[in-house]
Amino acid sequence: MTTTGERAAALDREDPLMPFRSRFLAVPEVLAYLDGNSLGRPLDRTPDRMAGFVRDQWGARLIRGWDEGWMEAPVRVGDELGRIALGAAPGQVVVGDSTSVLLYKAVRAALALDRGRTEIVFAAADFPTDRFVLQGIAAETGAVLVPLPAPHDGGVTSEQVAAAAGPRTAVVVLSHIAYRSAAITDVRAVTAAAHEAGAMVVWDLSHSVGALPLALDAWRVDLAVGCTYKYLNGGPGSPAFLYARADLLPRLEQPIQGWMGADRPFEMGERYAPDAGVRRFLSGTPSIVAMQPVLDMLGLLDEVGLTAVRAKSEQLTRFVIERFDAELAALGVRLASPRDDRLRGSHVTLDHPAFESMLPALHRRGVIPDFRRPDGLRIGLSPLSTSFAEVDAGLDAVVEELRFRV
Ligand SMILES: *Cc1c(COP(=O)(O)O)cnc(C)c1O
Repeated sequence: MTTTGERAAALDREDPLMPFRSRFLAVPEVLAYLDGNSLGRPLDRTPDRMAGFVRDQWGARLIRGWDEGWMEAPVRVGDELGRIALGAAPGQVVVGDSTSVLLYKAVRAALALDRGRTEIVFAAADFPTDRFVLQGIAAETGAVLVPLPAPHDGGVTSEQVAAAAGPRTAVVVLSHIAYRSAAITDVRAVTAAAHEAGAMVVWDLSHSVGALPLALDAWRVDLAVGCTYKYLNGGPGSPAFLYARADLLPRLEQPIQGWMGADRPFEMGERYAPDAGVRRFLSGTPSIVAMQPVLDMLGLLDEVGLTAVRAKSEQLTRFVIERFDAELAALGVRLASPRDDRLRGSHVTLDHPAFESMLPALHRRGVIPDFRRPDGLRIGLSPLSTSFAEVDAGLDAVVEELRFRV
């Protein structure tokens, strides 16, 4: 019988993506970083990129930088993101704000398309900010919220959406990959079901972008938002992105009219007129500084390809489930993620009441997982920066700490 350590070593040897792991900044005291789904690691070239930006662009070009590329950066970076990670043709993606703010703008824009439709269908167990933003929109506009339940270890289905969406539905707002269970919702099928009812869709891609291939154009998605600091390794607070389908864009009006989203911002005109393109979703000055690190990860994803990234992601999460079956289940741990590889994103959630009390001990051992109350340990597996040996070492620590407690 081979040990899990031997198996992890063999998987690392066979892993075609293993060489790319050295592109990330190494941190010796971190034995296992299992939270790349909340905050990706920086690439090793990112410190130089940031220093170079401060010295050569901000420092040397000063205010001239706005005329020399910063003004176009939100859409230029958006186009790269669209090509490499979203399956989106140019001109439909803009980078700026946070996911929460862009979600607000996207949902308001979708609601405003048809004032006869007043219902918002969403997942009852979605990430808090998504629910809070929708609650605020309901209070502000009088829209009615229609929550969809999902099993603890699963996600919302297209059948549920088809049953819930009707002539009053304005927009269906869902996460592609559920932040807790990692369940994947079928974007194409749900989008088609919403369209069948005459409703729009707004997808939150925060937990999927950079972890698996997306095809927003082909799936006929209306609007989508997502964050760049998870699997896109943009760094804490790096700006979010918004996708709006080209043929809808001329009709989309977002609620925070500012000069950076206006047609001809430097004319300092009398009245607001939106930019003709996706830039209309900007409001104030976007963070050009915080937009820099994501370029390193986009370059790497372009080199590797998201199909290969997804293949490794499935293997990594499967490895965790194998260890769950072999050891953790017997210790009273419950699996709170789908077993079917095709329905599971790039993390695995394990539930046990003792996990919260174990976190300080895990951190002291250099093992950094993610924790979601009340009892969920999220094992986040960012495919390019995570090795099987690292996951194995992290799970060894979880098993040992749990044995002290049960
Ligand atoms: C991470 C995440 C966010 C983050 O929102 P911010 O505005 O960047 O804080 C939003 N929605 C989902 C589903 C997420 O996973």
